Amino acid sequence: MHIGVPKEIKVREYRVGLTPDGASELVRAGHDVIVQTSAGDGVGYSDDAYRAAGAKIAPDAASVFGDSELIVKVKEPQPVETAMLTEKHTLFTYLHLAPDPVQSEGLRKSGCIAIAYETVTDADGRLPLLKPMSEVAGRMSIQVGAHCLEKTQGGRGMLLGGVPGVLPAKVVILGGGVAGTHAAEMALGARADVTVFDRSNKRLAELDTQFGGMVKTAFSTPAAVEKAVHEADLIIGAVLIPGAAAPKLVTRAMLKDMKDGAVLVDIAIDQGGCFETSKATTHDDPTYIIDGIVHYCVANMPGAVARTSTQALTNATLPFTAALARHGAIGALNADPHLARGLNVAEGEITYEPVAHDLGVPY
Ligand code: NAD
Repeated sequence: MHIGVPKEIKVREYRVGLTPDGASELVRAGHDVIVQTSAGDGVGYSDDAYRAAGAKIAPDAASVFGDSELIVKVKEPQPVETAMLTEKHTLFTYLHLAPDPVQSEGLRKSGCIAIAYETVTDADGRLPLLKPMSEVAGRMSIQVGAHCLEKTQGGRGMLLGGVPGVLPAKVVILGGGVAGTHAAEMALGARADVTVFDRSNKRLAELDTQFGGMVKTAFSTPAAVEKAVHEADLIIGAVLIPGAAAPKLVTRAMLKDMKDGAVLVDIAIDQGGCFETSKATTHDDPTYIIDGIVHYCVANMPGAVARTSTQALTNATLPFTAALARHGAIGALNADPHLARGLNVAEGEITYEPVAHDLGVPY
């Protein structure tokens, strides 16, 4: 199989669809890997690193698309990329088609097979190709939250872990799923006083066991959250209700009762945010202050740590990429119902029911 890795062209996207180690594994399995020149520059992977892995370097995207059947990317194709897709192509990338009728129409017209990372499932019914980005965002939330607590950022001027003789900061994490658990790990590592809220008693029990009681767990009711918010120094929003907008757990009115200079990090901003005062920000200007409370609401947090994110993404996608390359798209999709859940477009039709429903097109 000829596998193409174009350079990402979405604004400020530095990640790349395949690491040199990933390319090496596919080359060893007998495939041709074609990487667009400078595709990995943004994350420190030179053309020479890909050459050393056995990949070929193509001068431009047209050569990559022209010479490959399987295209492995990070972000949804931009219009100029969609225009290069044809019936011979299988596209494997994040697509997020539901709110994007223009891209959906382009993919349908191209005749390609498009498999979306975000809808591939695992044996537990979870989303293994979204998981690495939640892990990154969860861990990063404590790093950025600690920075926002600094005085120059508008924060309370507190060190997360305090020092001997000085109490640590109180970190409240709303949602104990993938992102929330990784946030808890980092906050605990920094010696903060950590409490995780969730609506799932099963999840709370798992967290209690996982952290050996070092992280406090609490059932999430509006009253309990309000009390915790009042006392918190750093609050991480990491809730998810699949298929729905995030619930607003911290209201505008609650900000007035918070400590001056406390910090809100809303990881769930990509689902609308779980604080009433959240609005999406960018890495260029990540924070704003309302009622003395610092808000950090960057919708693509993993983009800031593009190298780590690229490695984590390839780790998760590589087994599926290898299967697609080995068996061809049809063979791999027939053999693996979890990969098949990722199929969003084929033969000019939207093949994923929730996307078709949201777009109002036949399924
Ligand atoms: P997850 O499904 O693993 O965890 C979500 C948790 O929230 C679950 O344990 C659920 O029980 C809990 N929950 C639901 N309602 C709740 C409530 N009212 N109170 C407390 N807990 C509640 O999801 P995840 O993978 O950890 O993702 C969390 C969020 O982070 C999602 O919105 C995801 O899209 C987002 N995310 C954002 C970025 C970014 O860059 N901003 C990156 C990755 C993921």
